Amino acid sequence: MFKFGEYKIHIINDLLGVKRDPSTVYPNVKKSDWHAYKDFAQNKDGTIQSTWRGYLLQSPNNNILIDTGMGPGPYEHTDKKGMFLQNLKKVGVLPEEINHVFITHTHGDHIGNNIIWRNNNPVLNFPNAKYLVSKFDFDHYLDNQNNEFIEQILPLKELNVLNLISGKFYIEDKIWTLPTNGHTPGHQCLFVNIDNKNKLVFTGDLFHNEAQITENLWCPIFDWDTNMSTISRTGLFNLAFKNDWIICTGHLEDKKAVGKIISRDGILFWDPIQQ
Ligand SMILES: [Zn+2]
Repeated sequence: MFKFGEYKIHIINDLLGVKRDPSTVYPNVKKSDWHAYKDFAQNKDGTIQSTWRGYLLQSPNNNILIDTGMGPGPYEHTDKKGMFLQNLKKVGVLPEEINHVFITHTHGDHIGNNIIWRNNNPVLNFPNAKYLVSKFDFDHYLDNQNNEFIEQILPLKELNVLNLISGKFYIEDKIWTLPTNGHTPGHQCLFVNIDNKNKLVFTGDLFHNEAQITENLWCPIFDWDTNMSTISRTGLFNLAFKNDWIICTGHLEDKKAVGKIISRDGILFWDPIQQ
């Protein structure tokens, strides 16, 4: 658990994602360009791998989930199941106590525990929450539907808990969204104005790999519009570096999940903060 001012932040893991060859995820990056990062941004076997997770942000007034993981599975790449709900339980918060579910974007690995299906009926995993989803993402995936959208986003509308948001949306006076479109049409970060000095941002899929802190023009195949995602990424990284923001990442491994961007000899690097 991290405590920043009056806010508590818990990493809520779901499971480890698929091991992938970096050149299939970043087809425009030469293999040799990865060499500088192999000791810390890749597995020993040269693959890259995302952790699938969300976060619980506790303010004095609200329990806010940021994304809900990939879901229980089963999965082809592992015999393990998604453990998001169990890991939420471990931090001592009941699903009923969540009052906001903030979705950074509507890809499957960020929405997988919104809903549980029982006897072909969708049931909310967080029955007292407002679900905050980007209007741009919703409109886009309504026209380009996939199973995850059909199973985990569309039912929110039927169940009357879907809140479509855009621009700068306030959850509380000191917690608001930062539109960072590009990874998806409506990708959004969540900003916390901890106090006069300290600021924090949840970045969803603004970036996937630690190497992108330095190589912030690198775009994975998952980015919907790479011009837009690059502008969003470089813009937010610059702000975060200049203003010393704390960043809660969507996919870095646990011990590196939360950190800051620092400069060594004019080159930007990731500097993790330990729990
Ligand atoms: Zn993701």
